[in-house]
Formats: sequence, C-alpha cells, structure tokens
Amino acid sequence: MRLQNKNVVITGGASGIGLASVIRCLEEGANVVLSDLAGSEGAARAAELDGKHGGRCLFKACDVTDTAQVDRLFEETVNELGSVDAVFSNAGIGGVAPSHKVSDEEFLRIIDINLNGVFRVARAALRIMYGQGSGSIVNCASILGKFGQSNTAAYSAAKGGVVNLTRALALEAAPKGVRVNAIGPGYIDTPLIADLDKDLMNALIAMHPLGRLGRAEEVANGFLFLASDESSFVTGTTLMIDGGFTAGK
Ligand code: NDP
Repeated sequence: MRLQNKNVVITGGASGIGLASVIRCLEEGANVVLSDLAGSEGAARAAELDGKHGGRCLFKACDVTDTAQVDRLFEETVNELGSVDAVFSNAGIGGVAPSHKVSDEEFLRIIDINLNGVFRVARAALRIMYGQGSGSIVNCASILGKFGQSNTAAYSAAKGGVVNLTRALALEAAPKGVRVNAIGPGYIDTPLIADLDKDLMNALIAMHPLGRLGRAEEVANGFLFLASDESSFVTGTTLMIDGGFTAGK
C-alpha cells in the first residue's frame, strides 16, 4: 500500500493514462479526486470506483484552461479530504497537422491545455503543498518533449515546455519540501491516438525498440513511483516510459 491514506488529484482522469492512474492509486490505498471535463465519463467512473478499494474516489469537473476552475478543484479537495499529497497533471490533447495549415486558434488551444494547464494546476497545488511542507507534483510530458516530430509543432512545443517547466518548478519547490517531476510516455494505447492512420501507427510502433505501444497501466506505475515516498530523492526529472524510444537508434 504505497499511497495509504494519501490524497491524490488526477486531471484528465476519465480516460486512458489518467483513468489507469486513478485505479492504481486506489489499489495502493489512496483517496483520489478524479478530475476531468464536465460531461465526461468521469462522474460515472468515480461512482463505480468510490469505496471499491477502501478509499474515496470523488469526481470534480475542471477544465484546466480555466484558472477559477483549477483553483476551485484544489480548494474543494483540501476542504473535503484535508490535504493534497500528490497530483498528476495529466489532462492533454493531441494534434497532428502540417504547421503551414495550423491556425492561431488551433496552436494556442494545444498550448493552453497541454502547457498552460500544467502551470495552472501546479500553481494551485503549490499553494496548498507549501502550507503542508510536503507534496509531489507529476506533470505529463511526452517523448515529444525531448524530440521533435513532423506535424506536431504545437504539441511538441507544449511538451518541451512541460519538461523545462518541471525543472524550474522543482528548483523553486525543493526548499519547501515539495517535489516536481514529469513523465515522458512513448506512444501509449489510449483514445488519444486511436484515430491515427494505420501506416503511421505501424511506423510509430517500429520506433519503439520494445516493438509495441505502451499500456496506460505502465505509465500509471511510473506515476505511482513519483507520487510515493519511494521517489523521495527524485525531483526535477522526466521519467521516460517509452519502450526505449528516446534511447537512440
Ligand atoms: P486521453 O484522451 O485518453 O485522456 C486525456 C483526458 O484529458 C481526456 O479525458 C480528455 O477529455 C481530458 N481533457 C482534454 N482537455 C481537457 C481540459 N481542457 N481540461 C481537463 N481535461 C481535459 O489521452 P491519454 O490518456 O493518452 O493522455 C494523457 C496524457 O498523456 C496527455 O497529457 C497526453 O498528451 C500524454 N501522452 C499520451 C501519449 C499517448 O500516446 N497516448 C504519449 C505521450 C503523452 P476528452 O476526452 O473529452 O478530450
């Protein structure tokens, strides 16, 4: 029970990596706030999971592009559960398009969710964690935070931003007893990539030395490590969970 009695907030928790992380945290003894967009399946998922492993699973609607909603998510969590011990800033969207065809609106939307949203969540979490003198924030980056890839300019820019945002926040937060890390998944079998063209998917699989897509649970296990005290001397890093993608050719 690596997260016994810990309170965890996970954004984008209704689907894919987020949902797998909600379930793993509950299995490890945590209370979890499953946060996602209003109207998502998050409320139904949380209702199914609440109490199933002993801990609470509460749904809280939050769009990470809205500062007031993010701040409210953390205020309500601390009021109801008493603390915020770990956060997975996981909400994100994809975006594949040649740059000369990308509008300002499309570019800025990807940055606003995938990068600015991570900052909004971290800021709200830090306000609480500084008061506690402890906490672990984990941001979702990507292999595309370390490498570029054609037709993903906004996504790659956002995820590269997350990697360096994580370093800067970690330096700021360390003296206050708070750790900040990121996870860099390779291509993971979730709804985010379900619509990719089959030939592209096969080419992407071939870029992973382990020869397959990752599973959401494999990323969730990385979050568990970074959220728990097992990683008590780890801060400012990006843990790559990528089947060897970034190891080189
Ligand atoms: P999913 O689409 O399965 O899950 C992402 C969740 O985030 C969805 O429930 C989505 O809602 C939600 N979301 C979207 N926009 C917002 C918002 N503004 N506020 C709050 N929640 C929002 O994708 P994954 O599980 O694959 O992705 C999780 C994270 O992992 C993302 O940050 C992604 O970039 C990253 N990642 C994924 C990889 C992959 O190959 N799958 C590879 C590398 C990184 P809705 O479904 O309604 O959009």
